[in-house]
Amino acid sequence: MLTPEQIQGYLQKYGDSLFPCAMSEYLAHTNRVIWGLLIDSDERRFHRLFGEIALADLEQFNSSFHDTIAGYRVRARDFFPNLTADADVFLISKQCLDFPPSEVEALIIHELCHWYIDSGLQSSHPITINAKDRIKAKSLHRKTDQSLENITKHTRQFCELLKK
Ligand SMILES: [Zn+2]
Repeated sequence: MLTPEQIQGYLQKYGDSLFPCAMSEYLAHTNRVIWGLLIDSDERRFHRLFGEIALADLEQFNSSFHDTIAGYRVRARDFFPNLTADADVFLISKQCLDFPPSEVEALIIHELCHWYIDSGLQSSHPITINAKDRIKAKSLHRKTDQSLENITKHTRQFCELLKK
């Protein structure tokens, strides 16, 4: 079973190594912190996974519980203006902790691609997408549920990053 420290470790490792702008630089520049939430589908609650999350902040997140496998929210204050800190939030379901590490790593990389686009970094510090990537991305994008694209944000651009 993966520990919160291992999850945070993967996030830092891939966030710092796979993108032209490292996650630690982004956090330093924006003066933002990153919080990890554990999604508990049975209790229908979020629990703290990592980071200094005040109880009041956790309560705000729990006021709109959302059950999913994993997620990444840039600037959580856009959704919860009363949070005590300017935080990005990484979410992962409790059941994922029992997945093989390679699957969890793939899941984390997927969420980091959302981070990179949603934070605006793909516009300011773009990952170069070549013709081959575009072809692979096009076929991946065709397999996604495009009718839900404004919810999943699995856009063509997202697929390009993921296939890189
Ligand atoms: Zn996604």
